[in-house]
Amino acid sequence: MTGTAPRPPRRSALLRATTAAAVAVPLCTAGWFGWRALDHSGPAGATAAPAASAPAASSPTADPASAPPAPTATDQPGTADPGAPADGTAAPLTPPVAPPPSTTPAAEAPSAPADAAVLTGRTVLLDPGHNPGNSAHTAEINRQVDIGNARKECDTTGTETNAGYTEAEYTLDVSRRARALLAARGATVVLVQDGDRPWGPCVDERARAGADAHADVAVSVHGDGGPANGSGFHVIMPARVVAGKADNAAIVAPSRRLGLLLRDRFHAATGEPYADYIAKDGLDTRSDLGGLNLSTVPKVFIECGNMRNSTDAKRMTDPQWRQQAARGIADALTAFLTTQEKTEER
Ligand SMILES: [Zn+2]
Repeated sequence: MTGTAPRPPRRSALLRATTAAAVAVPLCTAGWFGWRALDHSGPAGATAAPAASAPAASSPTADPASAPPAPTATDQPGTADPGAPADGTAAPLTPPVAPPPSTTPAAEAPSAPADAAVLTGRTVLLDPGHNPGNSAHTAEINRQVDIGNARKECDTTGTETNAGYTEAEYTLDVSRRARALLAARGATVVLVQDGDRPWGPCVDERARAGADAHADVAVSVHGDGGPANGSGFHVIMPARVVAGKADNAAIVAPSRRLGLLLRDRFHAATGEPYADYIAKDGLDTRSDLGGLNLSTVPKVFIECGNMRNSTDAKRMTDPQWRQQAARGIADALTAFLTTQEKTEER
């Protein structure tokens, strides 16, 4: 999930007034069912989640977990060893994964480009929403950060399915799968976090990550925590925000082009319907997300489904569906980087 503003305050407002201690852990589920997650002490085994979220060995394409990060990045903030964040306060971005040799076949066809190296020279930033360890670091993630037009929590825990499959596990798994697909097409892919730091990063750092990585484009991956009777996915595009430290005017138009491509490609790859409980035609525009307000590269968020809905939860816990989700994301990014920017003036 991605914040609170557009959702009806209803129960979360009540909770803020009545259970202040519990609400000290902000969720991205401030809407309908956030209160349920607040009753949890935190997802069981959250700190061990990265291993559990590794894609199934039967994945039809390259196993994302088998693509080791190349510890060569030198232009990231912080100088700590990327593989060994000592205290979680200065862990740098996950180093980019070097593209494989250009002879690697695009095994994920049919939707993959014929030219496996079509993205050579391009850099993509993937932002897996939340962090499996956030629930164990409430003080750190509750710290307020400046998002230009407001102050907001550094990060949130995210939502989870009724069975306890967390959004943070989901976003990391799908992002790793998308990384493998994009790398096979020649792209350099950077993950904001790769399960290699105990919490976060904060939303402002996530926003800066695109520029820090010299990325051409960025996508933030999420799962929503809407009402149980609502289902479907939606894409969130940046509203123009010029306030304080935020000035995203230059990315609004290209981000909209990305958003439309992502809406269409994700739908085609997964069959997931547009959300029926939020957004319109699978698209929303928001000005309350630091990750969009502060980005200087084209960026959108995708809420891949509603984890509180039984049908969506079943899909999102299925590794094969997650591979389809990753393909939809990779296809949209590929299309964005290889097609004319015809819609940007609209
Ligand atoms: Zn989220």
